[in-house]
Amino acid sequence: MGCDARAVAAAVRAAAAVVTAHRDELVRLDQAIGDGDHGENLKRGFGFVVQALDESTPDTPGAVLKLVATTLISKVGGAAGPLYGTAFLRAATAVGDATELTPELVAKALRAALEGVVARGKAEVGDKTMVDALAPAAEVGSLAAAATAAERGAESTIPLVARKGRASYLGERAIGHQDPGARSTALVLRAFAEAAS
Ligand code: ADP
Ligand code: MG
Ligand code: MG
Repeated sequence: MGCDARAVAAAVRAAAAVVTAHRDELVRLDQAIGDGDHGENLKRGFGFVVQALDESTPDTPGAVLKLVATTLISKVGGAAGPLYGTAFLRAATAVGDATELTPELVAKALRAALEGVVARGKAEVGDKTMVDALAPAAEVGSLAAAATAAERGAESTIPLVARKGRASYLGERAIGHQDPGARSTALVLRAFAEAAS
């Protein structure tokens, strides 16, 4: 299928539905090593994104991604809102005003999203954050492979001590728990991959 603005908007709606369906799981993960709001933060944020898309679908993929970014940045607090917003904003810039996303543009957008999250949050792979899901995803060539890499990356956070974000206050007590932001990143990428297939 062509990956025009409508298709990207549909993929974003699919991601919103998946985040909503996994709200409680993400809350539980964040209760274990954070303050328990990650699932609700993302559910609310993507709810506002869907509202914005209901009002108007922008006419390029980049403009859709930018609408997602500005909505998440303005509506979602906490650490993840600005980080997710930055990821979508950099992805939007990376695809420019292309009317259809090619696999090359998707790969470029993923790399740009990672660079944005790292520039903003200063986390490296192994710090037990969403970077552990996004970094391996940005290294592969397709959305399907990115989703699988992100799922593995998210699972790789389970034995880690956190070095960024609230979970870093827990020291070794964070061991044994999957990072909620890494898990949500994997969920969003899987939703995108399935919508694009
Ligand atoms: P808060 O921690 O402010 O309550 P959320 O619960 O919504 O925000 O998001 C927590 C997630 O944010 C973590 O699971 C982690 O993946 C991510 N995170 C926190 N700090 C950073 C950072 N500096 N760089 C990358 N990701 C981060
Ligand atoms: Mg939280
Ligand atoms: Mg919070």
